[in-house]
Amino acid sequence: MEEVKLIDLKGIGPSTAKVLAGIGINSVNDLLHYYPRTHQDYSEITPLSSIKPGLVTIRAEIKQAKGRYVRRGMHITEAIASDETGSVRLVWFNQPYREGALKIGQQYFITGKLELKSQRFAIQSPSVELVSDMPVHTARIVPVYRETKGVSTVLIRKTMAQAVKYAKNMPNVLPDWIIKKYNLLPYGESLNELHFPSSAETLSLAKYSLGFIEVFELMLASSINKQIVASEIAPSIAFDEQVAKDFVAMLPYKLTDAQRKTVWQILKDIEHTNPMNRLVEGDVGSGKTVVAALAAVMAIAKGFQVALLAPTELLARQHAESLSELLKPLKLDSYVGLIVGSLKSVQKKTAQADIESGKIKLMIGTHALLQDKVKPQNLGLLIIDEQHRFGVEQRKALLKSVGKMPHVLSMTATPIPRSLALTLYGELDISLLDAMPIGRKPIITSLVSPNSRDKMYDHIRSEIDKNHQIYVVCPVISEANKNNLVSAEIMYKQLSSSLFKDKRVGLLHGKLKAEEKTAVMESYVDGELDILVATTVVEVGVNVPNATIMVIEGADRFGLAQMHQLRGRVGRSDDQGYCYIVPSDSKAPSKRLRALVQSTDGFRLAELDLELRGPGAIYGTLQSGELDLRFANLNDTKLLVGAREAVNVFIENKEILKNYPELDRRVRFAQAVITLN
Ligand code: ADP
Ligand code: MG
Repeated sequence: MEEVKLIDLKGIGPSTAKVLAGIGINSVNDLLHYYPRTHQDYSEITPLSSIKPGLVTIRAEIKQAKGRYVRRGMHITEAIASDETGSVRLVWFNQPYREGALKIGQQYFITGKLELKSQRFAIQSPSVELVSDMPVHTARIVPVYRETKGVSTVLIRKTMAQAVKYAKNMPNVLPDWIIKKYNLLPYGESLNELHFPSSAETLSLAKYSLGFIEVFELMLASSINKQIVASEIAPSIAFDEQVAKDFVAMLPYKLTDAQRKTVWQILKDIEHTNPMNRLVEGDVGSGKTVVAALAAVMAIAKGFQVALLAPTELLARQHAESLSELLKPLKLDSYVGLIVGSLKSVQKKTAQADIESGKIKLMIGTHALLQDKVKPQNLGLLIIDEQHRFGVEQRKALLKSVGKMPHVLSMTATPIPRSLALTLYGELDISLLDAMPIGRKPIITSLVSPNSRDKMYDHIRSEIDKNHQIYVVCPVISEANKNNLVSAEIMYKQLSSSLFKDKRVGLLHGKLKAEEKTAVMESYVDGELDILVATTVVEVGVNVPNATIMVIEGADRFGLAQMHQLRGRVGRSDDQGYCYIVPSDSKAPSKRLRALVQSTDGFRLAELDLELRGPGAIYGTLQSGELDLRFANLNDTKLLVGAREAVNVFIENKEILKNYPELDRRVRFAQAVITLN
């Protein structure tokens, strides 16, 4: 659609245009995609003889209107409105323009709350508009918008009423035959009905139609991705029962059934020459590392190299340590090599040479692994830990740098909600580690008001006295008192200089030099620190089984999945783990925070995150709002079946997509975002 500026709309002046520009709305197209937060049904008009206290909509004639100052700074406008059945008083405070704006003797739609005040009934601060076929604020189902930075719903509604006139010229996203076959509204009409519904039925049809587009695009993108991967060739890594048996035999524990099943799926996948593209989803502490280790051992035993990519240096180092430990009884630990940014250049060069010569068979690292200088000659398996932490581009870079297609095993503790996974992958390539190792006790989570921390600190002290360790995570490093946020530096000062002066307190955040970070973390791991005050650098993967309390400060600033991850840093042994959630103010806690207290199930929390924040919250790399599931109900079987059927038509004949450039563009975008490898 040709770009229409807001200022070109009838009745929209430069000041309105400027206010809307302040929230990123510059064109009619932008505005049409500013969706209503909800709707209110004012469509039922009540005769004045039957109105009752509460929200009412009437159709009445203004008989009189008068404004006056009742005392300094307090202005009141009173008006009388009548229909054939009765009259009612209307009242506005401090809106002196009302008197002049109301036209005596004219018919109006009037919506507002009828209330008894000072023993007289009146509709308080009603919205009024002259009776017409196209009311905007009254006498219909009206849209309600998110209000920010001085942008009111009324202002948006007024502007939107002009903008929707352009909606009907918008090109369809979906081909006409899909719209017809599945009884959808054309795209522009969906937007029109979404903003100004003609009825509850058309509103729900509009949402269904927009939801169909969302699901269709995601499904098509993931199907194309699957086809692309299927056309590549990876080395076959033959299954060797003895290797698997030897590995399992030397473990200090028994694998859980979930781990066994997952390992089995992986080992079967990598026997084939079509590249594995499997995602292992397992809540924090479910034991993903050992699963990856067995896959790696199998690949190494069959002569291949393996790369393990971790999102932080801390995690890469920890993986290197725990994998060496796991590989030691098989005498494979000398094959493990680490490549991280902070290595001295000599060390790095040696590691690079060892990777190229094949002396290092299991290379573990951060982005440093992605450099051109790292040249594995025979990479059979790529393991990506905390997969969602990597951008699509980074993952692509890695695959490109190794040239040939390895098998890819992705692991995440931030599960894709089941409903979304089914939509995207048909569940085929996902393994769930849905059982915890035995003996784990669910973490006890409680909310603590920032003004009453005493009991929490008492508890912390008693845990330290039992030789346990504590994490305190803050949302920012310094920025003292900005929006009341507790910063790590200030918290560190408070705890180390007064409350826990007698204890060993450490500070860890992203601005420290890499060596400093490593040093602090190592002393925490070695039990030389009682309390670690940190930012979210400890979010992923860090494993200190002796830590039993996690305090999350400024909790309202974190995402649900993120807090669940943080919480997973404790309760990693037989000892009971605790998590304290401290919001930044003492207001009633949000739904999100309450959910975290009630549930320790990462999958349920992920579903809730999906509901509250959309899939962008799960695919952390997704910045643009283009890929979203705002309208689709993933439990709607009819929608899913319809979209899948339509997708199959495109999969059978890929040329079709070229005929729909806009759809093609959107699907490509979705492909890039949701790809697993
Ligand atoms: P995550 O899935 O969060 O990456 P890890 O792989 O770090 O979890 O495992 C968490 C802890 O559980 C580790 O200390 C590991 O040794 C232990 N663990 C893994 N599997 C089992 C098991 N089957 N039984 C007992 N402990 C296990
Ligand atoms: Mg892990």
